Parts: sequence; structure tokens; C-alpha cells
Amino acid sequence: MTSVSSQLQKPLSGKVAVVTGSTSGIGLGLARALAEAGADVMLNGFGDADGIECERAAIEDAFGVRARYSAADMTKPDEIAAMVGAAEAELGACDIVVNNAGIQFVAPVEEFPEAKWEAIVAINLSASFYTARAALPGMRTRGYGRIVNIASAHGLVASPFKAAYVAAKHGVVGLTKVIGLETAEDDNITCNAICPGYVRTPLVEGQIADQAKAHNMSEDEVIREVILASQPNKRFVDIAEIGALVLMLCSNAGQSITGAALPIDGGWVAR
Ligand code: NAD
Repeated sequence: MTSVSSQLQKPLSGKVAVVTGSTSGIGLGLARALAEAGADVMLNGFGDADGIECERAAIEDAFGVRARYSAADMTKPDEIAAMVGAAEAELGACDIVVNNAGIQFVAPVEEFPEAKWEAIVAINLSASFYTARAALPGMRTRGYGRIVNIASAHGLVASPFKAAYVAAKHGVVGLTKVIGLETAEDDNITCNAICPGYVRTPLVEGQIADQAKAHNMSEDEVIREVILASQPNKRFVDIAEIGALVLMLCSNAGQSITGAALPIDGGWVAR
């Protein structure tokens, strides 16, 4: 039995979290934050097998939880259902789902490649529907569930050249509202979207390099004048700040927050 003091230190002890796209960037940081809070975690995402195994083992060593890895491709509904099933079979439940996997591509609408549109909508939007669809029955049975969708400031406002990303992230905010309403009368199940501004991850490093080339600017100039132009506080959001918000939503104090889209963007969408 978990003691009161260990519950205070490890508020998510006994819970199981699936974090999609957790082999890199924000997802890896969120998986580590959930594990530090005591949750067993199912990692997911692409990357070098040895590197992923290192991250998985490091989480078990650092936080004393169980960590597993699913290679499910977020464009494949059957693999998504199997990942949720594996969390339930191997770790005993799927209490928390963080829909974080995402990709970006930038081009004007009339030049936007069909395959990029389809992939962005599948990974950034449809995957969140398929995880929720697979995980909700178990959440209802156990009387606890937290679905946290990592949307974006681009789920609330638009920028040019990001048609698929902005459409998918607005879709995630809409899906969040529907799931929030459908689970509102269930005891202790919530669904929320977090809408970060820019976070310095491999996804953004790619954009910095591309923009520097396109505008013939230094990377520092791109960060100041292009990337952070829309972010009033002029600094990147820290992954730890997003982690703290996820933990709050997963706690009992988060029980009445549902169907919400929560900006964490230094004032971007306040404009
Ligand atoms: P990242 O590129 O560092 O990580 C993306 C993760 O998604 C990786 O683990 C990758 O393997 C995984 N992934 C990609 N395609 C996949 C697929 N088909 N199946 C399974 N996994 C797949 O990106 P990041 O910056 O950490 O972004 C994470 C999320 O946060 C994304 O949804 C992104 O849109 C969102 N976001 C990022 C920022 C930012 O500034 N970095 C801002 C707002 C929102």
C-alpha cells in the first residue's frame, strides 16, 4: 500500500500514462515529468532503437517506475489501438493519454503537397481521436482518466503557410471540447488541450534553420525577428512549464477543468 508521504511526493503513483511522440522534444520531457510524479509510462515515437532504449531505461532508473515503448505509427489507427491495448496489458491501465506526436510543414496553400497535408492531419489530429476512442472505455471503468492534447497557439490563431498544421491544431481544440462534454458527467475524467507558443525542440530548430536560409538572416536574427515576433514575452516556453501544467491537469485539483484550451504562450493569443 502507498504511504501518505509517498503519495505526496509521487502524486501519480499507480497511474499509467501513454505519451505519444515521446522519443524527442516536448513528449520526452512530459513522459519524464509524469514518471517523476510516479506514473508508469508508455513511450512512443520514432528514432534510433538504441537511443530510445537508453531513454526508456533512464526513466526506470531515475524515477523507479515501469517504462515501456510502443513503436506505433500515429498515422495507423490499428497500431494506435494496439498501443493503448499494450499499456493496459503490460502496465495494467491507460489512465492518462498525452497526445503529443506532431509534425510540421510550411508552404503556401496552392503549393502544399497532398502527402504532407494528409500526414499532418493524421498525426496531429486524427491520432488524438483514435487514442481517446481506445482509452475511454477503460477510463470509464476505472473512474479516472486524463486526456491532454498538446495543441498549439496555432490551435487558437493562424499564421500563413501552415495550412495543415493550423487546421489540425484547431481541430484538436474542437475534439477536446467534444470529449470534454461527452465525459463531463463521468466521475473524474477530463480532456483538455494545452496550446504552447514556441518551445525550442528539434521541430523548431528545423524551422529556425529553414527561415535563416530563406531570409538570408543569422539564426539569432530569425529567433528574435521571425520566430518570437508573435510571442510578447520574447522567450521560448520551457518544456518544464508544460510538464507542470500537465501534472496539474492530472491531479485531483484539475478535476473541474475540462474541454478547455489552455494557452502557455507568453501572451501570444492575448493580442
Ligand atoms: P519533435 O519533433 O521534437 O517531436 C515529435 C515527436 O513525434 C517525436 O517523438 C517523433 O518521433 C514523433 N512522431 C512523429 N511522427 C510520428 C508518427 N507518425 N507516429 C508516432 N510518433 C511520431 O517535436 P516537438 O516540438 O517536441 O512537438 C511535440 C508536439 O508539440 C507537437 O504536437 C507539436 O505540434 C506541439 N507543439 C510544439 C511547439 C514547439 O514550439 N516546439 C509549439 C506548440 C506545439
